[in-house]
Amino acid sequence: MTEAMSEYKLPIPVPRAESVPFWDGLKQDKFMLQYCDSCGKLNWFPRTHCVVCGKTHFTWKPSSGKGVLETYTIVYRGMNPAWQAETPYILGMVRLDEGIRMVTRIISDKGEKTPMDARVSLVCKPAGDDMKLPFFELVD
Ligand SMILES: [Zn+2]
Repeated sequence: MTEAMSEYKLPIPVPRAESVPFWDGLKQDKFMLQYCDSCGKLNWFPRTHCVVCGKTHFTWKPSSGKGVLETYTIVYRGMNPAWQAETPYILGMVRLDEGIRMVTRIISDKGEKTPMDARVSLVCKPAGDDMKLPFFELVD
């Protein structure tokens, strides 16, 4: 067990075959997006078949890693003991500049004074031995 693994206490996602390029991108601090080779549609989250045309071939491209914090809540009660140790933390809805929305952790020392519509940027944090998770922090 490495130092990083012994420090990380939260549940770790298990990548599915269709999302491996996404998780591999995070390891390189890139938020990869899946574009359909047939119709060009951006699929979020990663899928086996395009949501528009049903085709199965995709090209992965790095996003800007930048977006807007549309809304958020502050979590005071964790979903399990591991998350409880993290409280309070900010769970936000981020819209990437590429147009997709996701629920994600927000890094902010402003607590409930964190501004809506703030610009945010991707921060990839180690989780276990061989994974990073996407967080977003406020940009000045
Ligand atoms: Zn398509």
